[in-house]
Amino acid sequence: SDHALDYPPSPQTMDWSAHFPAFANSGKTPEFADIGCGFGGLLIALAPLFPDTLMLGLEIRVQVTQYVQDRIAALRTTSAPAALPTASTAAAPYQNVSVVRANAMKFLPNYFPKSSLSALFFLFPDPHFKARKHKARIISPTLLAEYAFVLKPGGIVYTITDVHDLHEWMKAHLEAFPLFESVTEAELRDQGKGCILDAVYNSTEEGKKVERNSGEKWLACFRRKEATRTS
Ligand code: SAM
Repeated sequence: SDHALDYPPSPQTMDWSAHFPAFANSGKTPEFADIGCGFGGLLIALAPLFPDTLMLGLEIRVQVTQYVQDRIAALRTTSAPAALPTASTAAAPYQNVSVVRANAMKFLPNYFPKSSLSALFFLFPDPHFKARKHKARIISPTLLAEYAFVLKPGGIVYTITDVHDLHEWMKAHLEAFPLFESVTEAELRDQGKGCILDAVYNSTEEGKKVERNSGEKWLACFRRKEATRTS
């Protein structure tokens, strides 16, 4: 339960240096957040593509979080060049990726300051099929306000699922929320975000499972609008 969850009282108290030692004095905070990251496939795929961008996975299951932590630690060790040129530790692979065990439905604003994220990922979230379980879904009007808060204007929400009903649900809620606007896959590819979309489709463990079972994948992406005086 949440009692066992250790979370920062506010983002300002979060010490990221333990997570990203190579960036300890950079003043950087995570810009990509993978909500319910599972076994970490997305983060591992994106880390080398955006070596200067800090990325964080949030995962509620203890063993799964531990697995991702171990996976990142191993990648950092095995991928480290034998002798790095001085002052280029940040160039060592996988230094920019980490994971926390967290209930993302409760504590997101404890981790991320306002307007700090440029990408939020909801990849193959638990579907919670039954109507009485819909409140447990990771996309809901209350939570959208939190997602809008932590995203920078222009930041992107990526959602993908193999459950058509959940796809319609996420799309309907995001479209109805005044601070988000729909953005097409083609538009994102034009903006150079094709490599992110490819990872969204193919890099996660759940996405690969869907692939093996020849399931369909439903993508929906949204842009955090510029704040206006009325919003
Ligand atoms: N995104 C991963 C993928 O595509 O392979 C994992 C998908 S899996 C179906 C959903 C994940 O979300 C599980 O690992 C689950 O433990 C995690 N999860 C569910 N509710 C969560 C919450 N409130 N906070 C953080 N993680 C959560």
